Amino acid sequence: MNDKEISEIINELGEQREQYFNSVAPPIIQTSNFSFKTVNDLRNAFEDESKNFIYSRAKNPTLNILSEKLAALDGAEDCLVVNSGAGAIFISVLANVKSGDHIISVAQPYSWTQKMFDTVFPRFNISVSYVDGRDANNFKDAIRDNTTLIYLESPNSWSFAIQDLHSIATLAKSKNIITVCDNSYCTPLYQQPIALGIDISVQSATKYICGHSDVVAGVICGSNEMISKIFKSEYMNLGIGTTPFNAWLLLRGLRTLSVRMDRVSANTKKIIEFLKNNEQVEKILYPLMPEFDQYELAKKQMKDAGGLFSFIIKAQSALEIENFCNSLRHILMAVSWGGYESLIIPGIASIPAAAFDASNEDHRRIRIYIGLEDADYIIDDLNRGFNSMKI
Ligand SMILES: *Cc1c(COP(=O)(O)O)cnc(C)c1O
Repeated sequence: MNDKEISEIINELGEQREQYFNSVAPPIIQTSNFSFKTVNDLRNAFEDESKNFIYSRAKNPTLNILSEKLAALDGAEDCLVVNSGAGAIFISVLANVKSGDHIISVAQPYSWTQKMFDTVFPRFNISVSYVDGRDANNFKDAIRDNTTLIYLESPNSWSFAIQDLHSIATLAKSKNIITVCDNSYCTPLYQQPIALGIDISVQSATKYICGHSDVVAGVICGSNEMISKIFKSEYMNLGIGTTPFNAWLLLRGLRTLSVRMDRVSANTKKIIEFLKNNEQVEKILYPLMPEFDQYELAKKQMKDAGGLFSFIIKAQSALEIENFCNSLRHILMAVSWGGYESLIIPGIASIPAAAFDASNEDHRRIRIYIGLEDADYIIDDLNRGFNSMKI
């Protein structure tokens, strides 16, 4: 997809301004239901609840503008926008498995994806094998007679490990196995799972699509057949669709997706340069860095990499890392990412301070997201953090 096409999708596709007083911004159609003039009109509408506006648990015009754009950006036929990324993942997988099935998942997927596999699905006799996704052969070796789904997350949002989407999709197709890929890290602007052969591309829209840290939402893109299958069962049964107001905020976020992603990526490269030259940084993990062990694959399937990465900080004690984080004034300590604001999460927040082991890289890992601020403003803050460690 070229930049002109992206502009057209973001600015024009799905807008029907003449239907709402030629207002430039679309209205929030805050209604639960839609009325009909004649029995025949109602009868016609009932024929397909996935196409007609009848009830907002199914279809809503504000959501429709958004889902048309998101499907097009992903190069997909159709799309559903739901109340969270976790919900998008859950119903995409659930719709495609039954009791007795086996799933192969990339190791250490997003925490709630892993919880779904480890705690919910075993109750329904669905088993999961985890494989190191850096070698596509591991998927091949893990396939069993009852394998029906392969779950991918590339890059992983903590380790940034990558899977070869095209070769895994090709393998899966040859065995009639459905593939799902979490594309939150790249968004369709930087990686196109569907074009690489993946069946379902999911995203946490809470991250870059929203971009303003004020909505939790998820996106599911796929073929008409696949989306219709999910819509008619899990989507409608759970009532999981996003609200008109949140759809409107997501549309507003989407208007600036390309400029935000470009700015975030440019900022990130400057900050990585700064960190590379810093003696207190042992290692940086960012897929589009020549030092990254999967750099060639990253370059092949990703256009760019956005603002999320990790670095391993040199520290002898948990206190040093705590001083680093606690002294920051601009970079916020918070989960999530993809918004306008830079964020940091230290690995030590997940363990008791007394359990700190300097020889364990994970304990010295700092995950950072670079937002839209001026790069030097962030660098000043990082310098403040590094200086605080020396005291
Ligand atoms: C945040 C995130 C999710 C979950 O999305 P929510 O919108 O928080 O439910 C899933 N996958 C990845 C990679 C994420 O970063």
